[in-house]
Amino acid sequence: MEHIVIIGNGIAGVTAARHIRKLSDKRITVVSAETDYFFSRTALMYVYMGHMKFKHTQPYENWFWKKNRIELVKGYVNTVDHQNKKLVLADGDSLAYDKLILATGSKPNKFGWPGQDLPGVQGLYSKQDLDQLEANTPDNKTCKRAVIVGGGLIGIEMAEMLRSRKIPVTFLVRETSFWNGVLPAGESAMINEHILEHHIDLKLATNLVEILADENGRAKAVTTDKGETIECSVVGLTAGVSPNINFLKDSGIELGRGIKVNRHLETNIKDIYAIGDCAEQHEGIGQRRPIEAVWYTGRMMGETVAQTICGNKIEYKPGHWFNSAKFLDLEYQTYGWVFSERNRKENEQHFHWRDDKEKICVTVAFDKETKQFLGVNTFGIRMRHEIFDRWLTEKRDVNHVMEYLKDANFDPEFYAQYEGKIVSKFNSEFGTSISPKKKSWKRIFSNA
Ligand SMILES: Cc1cc2nc3c(=O)[nH]c(=O)nc-3n(C[C@H](O)[C@H](O)[C@H](O)COP(=O)(O)OP(=O)(O)OC[C@H]3O[C@@H](n4cnc5c(N)ncnc54)[C@H](O)[C@@H]3O)c2cc1C
Repeated sequence: MEHIVIIGNGIAGVTAARHIRKLSDKRITVVSAETDYFFSRTALMYVYMGHMKFKHTQPYENWFWKKNRIELVKGYVNTVDHQNKKLVLADGDSLAYDKLILATGSKPNKFGWPGQDLPGVQGLYSKQDLDQLEANTPDNKTCKRAVIVGGGLIGIEMAEMLRSRKIPVTFLVRETSFWNGVLPAGESAMINEHILEHHIDLKLATNLVEILADENGRAKAVTTDKGETIECSVVGLTAGVSPNINFLKDSGIELGRGIKVNRHLETNIKDIYAIGDCAEQHEGIGQRRPIEAVWYTGRMMGETVAQTICGNKIEYKPGHWFNSAKFLDLEYQTYGWVFSERNRKENEQHFHWRDDKEKICVTVAFDKETKQFLGVNTFGIRMRHEIFDRWLTEKRDVNHVMEYLKDANFDPEFYAQYEGKIVSKFNSEFGTSISPKKKSWKRIFSNA
């Protein structure tokens, strides 16, 4: 019986395992060093904040794996020996495979800062990181201040976690405005305000220089390029992630920043595939980045590779870009492409609306010449994924989006509606006289 071995029990690896099982009788083994069972990494913050227990982050009961004949091995793979089709584990055991799927995820970036490996300095990625954060920051008496370095989505999650225990937080962000490599200026400015209002000491355009140790060798302060010394008990390093591939350096598998794969998620070595955060497309698909470190793309890649391995060779086609996240209590969604000033394409025009009272805003991107709708960002309003996906596929123009915007609104009944204000601002900016159509369930659920 063909033996499929998967390294990594994250969303990419376990999706591949589940789908291979659905499609075949192959022997499946999942090896992972982190935890016995798959858990939802995106929910780690809620464990720290006391909203759930760690076991609630495990989507499958422990018996699920045995019942589905998915063998689990807890261990770290040191070596992939593709000539002999075997893995060597850190404990010296070896494991033979017929086909190998690499789904080894990411690790937090470290940029060689002096003091980055001191006790009290940590990232936020793994279950071990969560345990360490719990030990480092049980309360605001033990941890008098934390400094977080790196203003991305994980940094702001870490800030929210620590603030939930009333731990003072200083947040060092290299950029002049929060996440402004991704968000357009108006949105980024709104997030700056939001962070400050949550009593997080946001320091923009500020770089970490060094982490200083106390007499016991534990982090006690950081220095910044603004000449400040900030005392703290804990330093969170959240300056992005990169593929977890160091153990593959001498394997013969082609590596770039990640593991190089083609559209079928095949590496340069026969019978070895890579999926999820660790995979790097030779060329990004459409405007997507070659490495996509998000949850749903890991799941899609897992489903795709399962088909290929089970004889139905298909390409990874993730469709229109979408994503969602939370900035403290502010929900963010994005569909299609809305680029920041830094990355904006020449033809890309933006319409931005922000409510004058609440932290709610929408940015719609469209083509300057053709008016084709390119994408939307929303903060504080929930929008319907399928509707925007449909409009992107149908290449609708921005006027159509404005006219039918109420169809896209996904907020629960009785929530305040903002489409009237949004469209009215659009009309006054672009000289149109669009009146938004009443929401139609028929339109929403029709595929026409
Ligand atoms: C705090 C946090 C919040 C996030 N929130 C979101 C969110 O809201 N939305 C979103 O889309 N994404 C979010 N992400 C990103 C998302 O979690 C990842 O994109 C996703 O988990 C990657 O899945 P994966 O299966 O590729 O890898 P991983 O989940 O990283 O799993 C890889 C596994 O392989 C193991 N492994 C690696 N090397 C070896 C080896 N040599 N031997 C054995 N085992 C090995 C690792 O220990 C790990 O357990 C978040 C990430 C973090 C850290």
